[in-house]
Amino acid sequence: MTSRITRLSMALVLLLSMALVVGCPPPVEVEPVVPTYEADVVIIGAGGAGLAAAVSAAERGATVILLEKMPAVGGNTIIAGGFMAAVFPERQEPLGIEDSIELHIEQVLEGGDWLGCPVLVRTMVEGAEPALRWMMDMGLELDPYIHFIIGSMWRRAHRPVEPAGVGFIRVLKNAALEKGVNLRLNTKAESLIVEDGRVVGVMAKGRGGEEIRFMAHKGVVLASGGFAEDIPLRMMFVPGLCPLIFTTNHPGATGEGILMALDVGAQVIGMEWIQGLPVGRPGVKGFAWGVTVETPPIVNINLEGRRFIDENERRDRIMSALVKQPERKMFMVGDAKSMPPDRVNVFGGRIDKMIADGLVFEVDTLEELAKLIGVPVDAFVAQMERYNADIAAGIDDEFGKIGRKPIVTPPFHAAGPTVPILHHTMGGVKIDVYTRVIDVHGRPIPGLYAAGEVTGGIHGTNRLGSNALTDIFVFGRIAGESAAGGR
Ligand code: ADP
Repeated sequence: MTSRITRLSMALVLLLSMALVVGCPPPVEVEPVVPTYEADVVIIGAGGAGLAAAVSAAERGATVILLEKMPAVGGNTIIAGGFMAAVFPERQEPLGIEDSIELHIEQVLEGGDWLGCPVLVRTMVEGAEPALRWMMDMGLELDPYIHFIIGSMWRRAHRPVEPAGVGFIRVLKNAALEKGVNLRLNTKAESLIVEDGRVVGVMAKGRGGEEIRFMAHKGVVLASGGFAEDIPLRMMFVPGLCPLIFTTNHPGATGEGILMALDVGAQVIGMEWIQGLPVGRPGVKGFAWGVTVETPPIVNINLEGRRFIDENERRDRIMSALVKQPERKMFMVGDAKSMPPDRVNVFGGRIDKMIADGLVFEVDTLEELAKLIGVPVDAFVAQMERYNADIAAGIDDEFGKIGRKPIVTPPFHAAGPTVPILHHTMGGVKIDVYTRVIDVHGRPIPGLYAAGEVTGGIHGTNRLGSNALTDIFVFGRIAGESAAGGR
């Protein structure tokens, strides 16, 4: 008995000492479990294009996951001027505005130096009124006035009664949530998942940096916006562009959607065309829109008190002219007739507050205005007198401006000084009319769609004012339809 116990104890001691010598068996490597969610359609970016795609896909019975890296939806769309170009005879004709689909197409192509893709331009222009009606059916309420804004070339810009892009985003977000779209804020898409040559999902990171996988049964829509806020990307495509120049964009406009698409073989187009606006505030990010964005009733005045461009011109031409002016600065000058009746600008900014803040000046005479804004009185007054006299006499404008309105009714106002600021990236991933992303061989990448500022090739070198919203809503709507239909 004793010897049995001794033998057992010896065996135990032996086993223990072996374990000490050899060490414990290594821990088994357990793969971290990545939470995975599935839907028919996964959309990257909840700005205008992404929300339109989400509603459109959900309307076709698709389940939708909408990823947004920021804590709120809206992107650049919600801070835009809120103008959407559309040939819409029922709204334009009562105001005596003549317009046509062919004129809009011609202006988009010409305004982009004939480098936009004609078939995409036609799709955008023809889809504009239906897209606007679609959102009106969701409850979008439009201001009855039709606008001619900076760089728009024509009076066809419609805007909601709410300021900036708020009205569009509000109705689309509500419609998306009502239709059961699974909106995931603070969720940043990082890469596309490809299986057997097809894009089948998205790898993303959540608020705490944790990985999350989103699988798409039918398609992934890239609606992640432009890249104006990403200086390295900007410099890569436009090396001469000043890296320090500010933008009007929201901080999330960093272009990683374009890089994700490049990683799966997409083509990009027009990356070197970055649009500026003459409405930056010196040394500050964001818009410095003053009193009005309408160009027929105002003039742009440089620090010498002179006009230097047709104010209705293309945005790229206004920018090229502005950078040649002293200190690259200008003021936008108008009169009582160009002051909004409620003294609130399209961004909801109260003009009286802007006057108090020294951003807008308003006085009864042109002489006083010149002194206030610090331009030579004689030159400025002579310039304004010539402008008004030419209109009264029916003499052509010195810069060829049409639709001029005299600036003779006090009080007069000036907003500024303003400087060039970056606004819109025309380039991005190449798509076809169904918003399928095109690869380097010219073929659609199965399962991948794109819409909005992340795409390129639509506007050519220069986008007309108010066509960005047309682009994002028309192609966003198509992208939702295409992805839901698995086209
Ligand atoms: P568009 O006008 O083309 O709709 P917006 O700028 O309005 O462009 O919207 C794009 C949206 O995409 C923004 O809200 C932006 O924060 C979001 N976004 C950009 N990159 C990502 C990403 N990697 N993951 C998720 N959302 C993104």
